Amino acid sequence: MERTLSIIKPDGVARGIIGEVIQRLESNKLKIVAMKMLKMNKTQAEGFYAVHEARPFFDSLTYFMSSGPIVIMVLEGENAIAKYREIMGATDYKEAAEGTIRKDFATDIEKNVVHGSDSPETAIFEISYFFNSFELIH
Ligand code: ADP
Ligand code: MG
Repeated sequence: MERTLSIIKPDGVARGIIGEVIQRLESNKLKIVAMKMLKMNKTQAEGFYAVHEARPFFDSLTYFMSSGPIVIMVLEGENAIAKYREIMGATDYKEAAEGTIRKDFATDIEKNVVHGSDSPETAIFEISYFFNSFELIH
């Protein structure tokens, strides 16, 4: 069993598709073992995306990610990291496969509805950024 961090980004929450995203996770056997909703400030978003600090889109991305409430979940399942990234689709929705969340709902390369961890190491960092061990269902 593997765990990964999922975020429904401010655009997804604002557009009322929390339920739609969760439906796709559950129907793909990704079990939700932690969940919360909050609004990050700019500094918190910068800490979360520190790996992208040098990228030209860093300021815009962290501004966007702190612009409204987000839904944060820990997903558990077999190959959860790769499986969830497959369900999300490519970063750029124009390149995302048919039937993926980003293909169906993203409006912009930045405003692409969902976040997902990209490796076991990233997942550990990202889960611990938002949740302590008491908040994870065992
Ligand atoms: P992913 O979210 O698919 O793992 P990255 O980790 O590469 O993608 O990028 C993090 C986030 O930064 C993306 O989800 C997207 O919101 C934003 N982003 C990535 N590339 C660009 C870009 N070229 N222009 C604007 N925003 C971008
Ligand atoms: Mg990434």
